[in-house]
Amino acid sequence: MKGSCHCGAVTLEVPHAPEWVGSCNCSLCTKTAWLVAYYPDDSVRVEGETVAYIWGDKMIGIHHCPICGCGTHWKTLGQDFGKMGVNARLLDGFEPGAVEVRLFDNRG
Ligand SMILES: [Zn+2]
Repeated sequence: MKGSCHCGAVTLEVPHAPEWVGSCNCSLCTKTAWLVAYYPDDSVRVEGETVAYIWGDKMIGIHHCPICGCGTHWKTLGQDFGKMGVNARLLDGFEPGAVEVRLFDNRG
């Protein structure tokens, strides 16, 4: 399954459509409205230049397209969870109402 940011400078390819996505209520996700699909690091292809935003406990880099601003994916820094997050909203044909949305309570 493929996807891209709004301007098309960043493209994504994931092995399959997400079965569910995570919606998180931390201070960042509340503002960015990501719906996150999780995949093994080595199964996702990201092409194009992205900028990483690193904040809080600095455990993950949250990437976005520097041209159109769409959040694209996040990756762990240092400690490896073996998984990375992809913003499912960028996947072609993604329909938020058609998948299970799991709410993560990370408001601190
Ligand atoms: Zn873009």
